[in-house]
Amino acid sequence: MRIPYQALEKITINEIGEGIAADRFKTADLAVVLLPARPGRIRWSALPDGHRLKARLAQAQDDELLTELCDTGATRLLIARVPVDADGFRRLERARKLLEGGLRPRDRALLIDTRLLPESAAADWSEALVSAALARIAPLPSRKREPPPPWGLRRIDLAGAHPPALSRARAAAQGNHIARWLARLPGNELTPARYRRLAEDLARREGISSRFLGEAALERLGAGAFLAVSRASERRDAGILHLRYRPRGGGRRPALALVGKGICFDTGGVNLKSARYMHGMHEDMSGSAVALGTLLALKRLKFPLAVDCWLALAENHIGPRAYKPNDVVHACDRTSIEIVHTDAEGRMVLADTLALASRSRPRLMLDFATLTGACVQALSTRYSGALCNRAHLHRAIETAGRESGERVWPFPMDDDYDQALESDIADIRQCTLDSEADHILAARFLNRFVAPDTAWIHLDLSASRHKGGLAHVPTDNTGFGVGFALRLLEQDKIRRLWEAC
Ligand SMILES: [Zn+2]
Repeated sequence: MRIPYQALEKITINEIGEGIAADRFKTADLAVVLLPARPGRIRWSALPDGHRLKARLAQAQDDELLTELCDTGATRLLIARVPVDADGFRRLERARKLLEGGLRPRDRALLIDTRLLPESAAADWSEALVSAALARIAPLPSRKREPPPPWGLRRIDLAGAHPPALSRARAAAQGNHIARWLARLPGNELTPARYRRLAEDLARREGISSRFLGEAALERLGAGAFLAVSRASERRDAGILHLRYRPRGGGRRPALALVGKGICFDTGGVNLKSARYMHGMHEDMSGSAVALGTLLALKRLKFPLAVDCWLALAENHIGPRAYKPNDVVHACDRTSIEIVHTDAEGRMVLADTLALASRSRPRLMLDFATLTGACVQALSTRYSGALCNRAHLHRAIETAGRESGERVWPFPMDDDYDQALESDIADIRQCTLDSEADHILAARFLNRFVAPDTAWIHLDLSASRHKGGLAHVPTDNTGFGVGFALRLLEQDKIRRLWEAC
């Protein structure tokens, strides 16, 4: 088994000029034509059979019309009115819904025509439709006797304004695809050992170096927080996979460190989860898959600076060796931690992983984790939460979320929250037994393990699963985080972190 991360590279995307648009209309299986929602002068003659379409659309009750091109009959035509000032999320969601009704599995060629939109909106809408198409056709694992047929799409033609960020959209789609592909694998297939091999194989093929810190190495490093979680597993395959992307001239010290929680199955441990809450816990590795997807996307975009990526791979099991409430363990920076609830394992494995990642003093550290139910209660599964040790980055975080369609909301990080984590016996308590603001307490706990001179953003991925899909992504597993991260790195306030290097 290999991660099919090159699947979307087979799609060619062509930016076509006015001269050949008419020709491409005839060879497309589906042509999507966007019009501004507000009435105004529309150049109907730019479309084949434009005046008949104008009359048909005037009769249609909806903002959309699915019809056929008169002269060929083979091309399905989807005309839709769209708001030109929609934000990233709305554009992507509308694009998903348009293709849900329009694109068929056997379609090989898709034409996206934005020539009738104002230029400022055309590029954004074009990009949204490309993103939605790539998200829809990305192949995901199926173990059915008769798996769904693969999508036939091979070509996307773009008529109209050329999206300047097409390469970012493609890279984000690829990273999002592998995040969803990994999250979908069942827990008996994606064990820590198997996950490690898949990620190492991807790294090798991409020229990214890797080293694996298994349990023995973590023991030597004194990573007792991580090992407390992993020690109940019968397979001794847990560990931290450290991937290093070093572009030429990008320096040795990482500008950016990506960190991900990779709990391949979470039973809750001794504080065992009930059936309702254990169901789906093979997806508790989603954060690490997003970190890996982001690294691949940055490689595709030829990101000019050095990046580290740390994947904390383990299972949280129950058994005679399992850690238990009131145990005291030591993280690799010698912080002693009083265990309160064994289901709060994510912050345990991340504590050591963040501490190790901090040692190379990255300018920015970005961690992804399906960490707390409290974050879902606060935001639902539509947004993810962000907690950051630099309050002046909140605006950049929110903007990146809105633009990418992966919406993120910042929470407070004031240090008086630490009072809730005071322990009589150890330096810190792992969590509390009250459910009050656990997402904030989790971040305050993790904050201890991050070097203060590193800007750090922790993403609590409450939106990693959303029934029916989210923004442009049509599946319940959303792969949320890759698109956000790529946009975040384009924000001026974030770029300034590198300039200070
Ligand atoms: Zn848990």
